[in-house]
Amino acid sequence: MYAELQTIYDELGRAIAAQAPVCELSGRCCRFDEFGHDLFATELEVDYVLAGLGDRPLPTFDRLCPFFESNQCHHREHRPLGCRVFFCDPSYRDAMPELHEQFFRQLKELHERHGIPYRYGPFLTLLRERGSSEGPVAQR
Ligand code: SF4
Repeated sequence: MYAELQTIYDELGRAIAAQAPVCELSGRCCRFDEFGHDLFATELEVDYVLAGLGDRPLPTFDRLCPFFESNQCHHREHRPLGCRVFFCDPSYRDAMPELHEQFFRQLKELHERHGIPYRYGPFLTLLRERGSSEGPVAQR
């Protein structure tokens, strides 16, 4: 199942590359509070983030994503769709909602196809909940 999720992410990556938004490593995409935007994710995505840690514990965190360090993401391979689709490049602003909708639909269909309970919420809240829940993260 994670392989199917990664396939969606890969396809999104190609669609974004076709738009060629510029990233100047400002870190705005990850400093939600500071720049007034929210990052949401599904529970399946959060499990994938946690599964990517392997045996490493989830770093402690407060209001900033635990994977954000030196203005960069240090868990890029496993980051959720919301992280992937967001760029602050003004020339990409019109393309972003459409890409988000298109690929988010695929994400929902993945849940439905496999009968995974669908839960969508603030990324850091879900990460805190799932990261501290007892037992291993599901290997889907
Ligand atoms: S997972 Fe990576 S890209 Fe997403 S908010 Fe955290 S540091 Fe930023």
